[in-house]
Amino acid sequence: MGLFKTDKYANVKWNKECIHRILNNDFYIGNLTQGKTIQTIGNNHKKIALPKEEWVVIHNNHIPIIDEYTFNQVQDINNQLKQKYFKEHNTNINDENILKGIIKCGYCGKNIRLVKNTKKNYVDKRFACSNKLKYKDRCNFKSVKEEIILNVILETIKLQLKLAKNLSEIVKSKKYLHKFELEKKCIKDKINKINFEIDNINNIYHIMYNDYLENVLNKEDYIYNKNNYKQKELKLKDELIKLNEDLNKIEERFNDKNFINDFLIFEDKEILTKEMILKLIDEIVIYNDKKLKIAFKFCDRFNEIKSYLNGWEVF
Ligand SMILES: [Zn+2]
Repeated sequence: MGLFKTDKYANVKWNKECIHRILNNDFYIGNLTQGKTIQTIGNNHKKIALPKEEWVVIHNNHIPIIDEYTFNQVQDINNQLKQKYFKEHNTNINDENILKGIIKCGYCGKNIRLVKNTKKNYVDKRFACSNKLKYKDRCNFKSVKEEIILNVILETIKLQLKLAKNLSEIVKSKKYLHKFELEKKCIKDKINKINFEIDNINNIYHIMYNDYLENVLNKEDYIYNKNNYKQKELKLKDELIKLNEDLNKIEERFNDKNFINDFLIFEDKEILTKEMILKLIDEIVIYNDKKLKIAFKFCDRFNEIKSYLNGWEVF
């Protein structure tokens, strides 16, 4: 095959997976392929596999050891075999685990994998713990049918969508606006009060200085009093900075309602897609006995808006 092994692998035999990797790796025809995964902040820094079309491929990066024609012929043969297998086994070549990287085992914390078992008349697809698949005794999670989980997730998303729709009405309502204005006014009042106090201190500086010049205050007392007021002033200025930050935060939050639209674009969708999952859900943790924990994105913001509802009859 014309390939060499390094000393480390000198006595290791080629296995099936190894040959498969070599046959499918375009590094051997001189390509350098990058950007197969992406890491996003919004997704807790998890790596997400990108579709092949989005990979960055640099051709002629190094001297090839397999010519492209032979490589492509091998790919064609492999694809034909794959298609034939999937046709014979009555399943779709494209079916993938749309929860990959998002779903975790509630018992051991490891990834949950989609496992396919081809039966006589159908394909049995189940979510199973990757840890348990390797070491039977290390986890208690019992595998569960894919369609059951996907249906539960879709139903939960629909409920969350209903909530998003209600919230979108609330953020447009006069009452919500009024509550925001009240909150802003409360902070602005505090800011005004502090500004007044600072002005007052500045006046006191003048008075003290005059008293000092007219010998009503001796130098020692003057410096002592001045330092006292200086500390008071610095403290008030710190408070002022914090209050202004709070005010900015309130304005920002009030103006950012896009996160609700992220939900609403999926209104009326009856099929769960990978796009939906990535856009709306941070993490899913699965347990036995039909227990599922779904962490939706923007949960804090939802709760915040819901808190404006206290005592209101909006739903
Ligand atoms: Zn597990």
